[in-house]
Amino acid sequence: MTGRIFLKLILCVFCLLLMALVTVDLSAAKVARDAYIRNLVRQGTEKARMLALAFPDLEKLDAARVREMAQAAGGRITLVRTDGKVLADSEANAAGMENHRTRPELIPAFGGGVGWSIRRSVTIGIDFLYVAVPVAGGAIRIAAPLAEINGQVARIRRQILGSTALAFLPAIAIAALLARWMSHRFAATMAHATELAHGNFRTRLPETGGEFGQLARTLNETSGNLQQIVEQLEREHAEIEKVERIRKDFVINVSHELRTPLASIQGYTETLMDGALDDPAHNMRFLGIIRHNAERLARLTEDLLTLSRIEQRRQKFEFGWVRLDALLRDAIDSMRPMAEKKRIHLAVEPGAEGCEAFCDSEAALQILSNLLDNAIKYTPDGGMIAVGARPAGDFFELFVRDNGMGIPEEDLPRLFERFYRVDKARSRELGGTGLGLAIVKHLVAAHNGSMRVESRVNQGTTFFFTLPAGEAASEQRVNPEFTAT
Ligand code: ADP
Repeated sequence: MTGRIFLKLILCVFCLLLMALVTVDLSAAKVARDAYIRNLVRQGTEKARMLALAFPDLEKLDAARVREMAQAAGGRITLVRTDGKVLADSEANAAGMENHRTRPELIPAFGGGVGWSIRRSVTIGIDFLYVAVPVAGGAIRIAAPLAEINGQVARIRRQILGSTALAFLPAIAIAALLARWMSHRFAATMAHATELAHGNFRTRLPETGGEFGQLARTLNETSGNLQQIVEQLEREHAEIEKVERIRKDFVINVSHELRTPLASIQGYTETLMDGALDDPAHNMRFLGIIRHNAERLARLTEDLLTLSRIEQRRQKFEFGWVRLDALLRDAIDSMRPMAEKKRIHLAVEPGAEGCEAFCDSEAALQILSNLLDNAIKYTPDGGMIAVGARPAGDFFELFVRDNGMGIPEEDLPRLFERFYRVDKARSRELGGTGLGLAIVKHLVAAHNGSMRVESRVNQGTTFFFTLPAGEAASEQRVNPEFTAT
């Protein structure tokens, strides 16, 4: 690639230099020829003038003297009368020569000036220079061959061409260096463009000065923009895939959760219908199992509906200032019968007196109930559960703490996912749906709050969540997605 560009550039430079060389040669040849002829005309004129002095009277001719003079002058001499008649010629018999009245070099001479012309001799085939000057009664013409001129011009041309070509050498070297530099930059730019065309938007060109630098900057900017767009699309794509995966998982989970109690109800119903109804030893137990599974289905559908209401923003929240000590007491009171069955001690820790959070009281109560329900379920008989609240910046942080079985560390990150349980069988046995914490997470998010959990296996678990207060407590600041509908 670099080689081809280099070759093209250098070829262009070469052609340009060659054209310049031809132009120099042509004009040099013309200048040299013109100067040479001018010089010959001047010399011819001088000689002819001297001859004019030697032949002041054309009528008194001495043919032998004419020949001598011609030899001395190194040319052919012709004496012509004003009417064009040739009176004498150093190389021919004048009597036999035609009238010279219209010869181009003689016309100005007859008029009193100097005339000259170049003509090819038909007999010997070489160019002659004719120069004529006026004399009394006619003109004297001297002619000399131009055979030398071409050789002279050729010598001058050779010299000029040689020195010009020599002067072009550094030009060619500079052009070659320039072509090499340019071809490298071109090749780099084209390689970059090819990378872009193949979808690699991470490559960058070095940004130097000049037009190439400008081009590099523009290309780099373009690839940067494209890279950003691609990354954004990739992120969006990953997000869509994640949502789709979660949706699929959810559908599979829901089907699975529904299938077990439904199959159990169906099985025991058939058993009863097949005769067990009349078996007093078992029928009540079977009916009990059917009722247990029906209750489980009801809880499951209830939780699913709650979750989808919040997710689809159909849940209506009524935000207002709620006293936290009263809220915590209400939550504990509603769970007390359940706790008492396991002789679990419930307590409100001091610190929430007189504090108010900006929330929907029903939702806040549901959050606390779900967390307390779990705390009671996963704490052994005789355990301790405490609830409380404390200020945390623009929020209040509420907590539900138990000294129950705790949660292994590896399960903590996924704890708030729908249907995620540490111990599936145990959760089912305790009537859990696996949706309690997912609902809690959504309700807290609807209040623009956050959640966290601390737990140690066999030592206990504390769930924390925040509700807005102070600056965070305004309808706009509370999650707008949820207040919008
Ligand atoms: P579930 O209906 O199974 O209780 P949740 O979403 O409420 O579903 O809770 C998810 C899982 O988190 C539970 O199955 C349980 O394993 C664990 N978990 C929740 N709260 C506690 C807690 N206080 N102590 C121990 N484990 C808990």
